[in-house]
Amino acid sequence: MSQPVTILGATGSIGLSTLDVVGRYPDRFHVHAVAGGSRIAELVDVCRRAHPKKAVIADESKYAELKTALVEAGLGDIDVHAGQAAVAALAEDPDTQTVVQAVVGAAGVAPTFAAARAGKRLLLANKESVVCGGGLLMRTVRDCGAELLPVDSEHNAIFQCLSGASPKSRAGARILLTASGGPFRGRKDLKGITVEQALAHPRWNMGRKISIDSATLMNKGLEVIEARWLFDFEPSRIQVVVHPESIVHSAVEFEDGAVIAQLGSADMRTPIAYSLGWPERLDGHARRLSLTEIGRLTFEEPDTNIFPLLRIAYEALEKGDGSTIVLNAANEIAVEAFLARRIPFDAISKVIQDMLARISEPFPQSVEEILALDARVREETRRRLENASFEV
Ligand code: NDP
Ligand code: MG
Repeated sequence: MSQPVTILGATGSIGLSTLDVVGRYPDRFHVHAVAGGSRIAELVDVCRRAHPKKAVIADESKYAELKTALVEAGLGDIDVHAGQAAVAALAEDPDTQTVVQAVVGAAGVAPTFAAARAGKRLLLANKESVVCGGGLLMRTVRDCGAELLPVDSEHNAIFQCLSGASPKSRAGARILLTASGGPFRGRKDLKGITVEQALAHPRWNMGRKISIDSATLMNKGLEVIEARWLFDFEPSRIQVVVHPESIVHSAVEFEDGAVIAQLGSADMRTPIAYSLGWPERLDGHARRLSLTEIGRLTFEEPDTNIFPLLRIAYEALEKGDGSTIVLNAANEIAVEAFLARRIPFDAISKVIQDMLARISEPFPQSVEEILALDARVREETRRRLENASFEV
């Protein structure tokens, strides 16, 4: 029987790759519901392709526009809702068991928790919700009988490398988290970088926010935090290794010295297909890897002097308090300001450091408290940016 799939963030890079994979298996999957942020034309296109039962737009003010556009496209039978709460409601919709969570940023926290609480099979690309949710999210997943399958390529790789490992072997293992190094690997400083340069990732074609995160190496910092919670590994057992070819998507070193790695071409359809089909494997139609064509793979240490955010992310995680939420929220606002050409590229890390020095809170006890801390940091970061109180 065809399995209904809900895609949150359906208009984004991961959302569209998911549509591509799902569309190749019409007997196995169909799209039940989709959610987007604010772009109507893109969401209508998704609806044309997938013809879901429900469509949600997070921006409440766009409800009428979406409704009209769908009617005009001959898709008036689609049930339309709007608002952040409607996105979270899709995540717990009893008509679907499989939820692909590909919203960008901390806007994904509430839907991720909603899916976890409803005991869904949660295919999670939205790393920010793991960073903000931490141990609370993992406990919710466990207590509510949800299944969490990581879509982020490194975490999907680690998931595969750890499968079959006993709890004792896991306890003695180390994660080798690979990083492409981004577009500025090898640079001696980060001065004068333009938005266009920062968006031009050498290996991956991704959404704007994660592309900037990759360029600052904040993406890898967020991924260290993500790995810490997803796999229950202490930060000291997670090592970042720069691997510019992006062929080894990550690896696990076991106590006996064996290193198990997962390799593949740089195409998110592979981890998406893996998590959709799990425990079976599906063909995501990514380009096949030819090791002889590649010839050689290289690895190096990350440069945390030029890219301080990776070190700062480890420090925030080691503190074990709400610093990881502060880090994430300040980063989102700083990236937004850089993309709007309001601050230079090398100010992003300064903004984040400044906010980490100002706000120190224990780790929140509930989703509401997580959202409140996130909102407070955003507001304060915005205010300080507006007043130009950062030395940039
Ligand atoms: P995109 O920017 O391409 O897409 C983001 C999606 O989220 C869009 O559908 C957007 O809608 C939607 N959205 C934005 N704001 C909201 C909101 N407030 N509520 C609901 N939906 C919203 O991002 P990516 O696809 O690149 O990334 C998505 C997530 O996956 C991120 O967390 C990222 O870190 C992670 N990820 C991405 C990878 C990649 O290769 N792209 C790899 C690994 C992880 P709209 O189009 O209307 O703005
Ligand atoms: Mg990744």
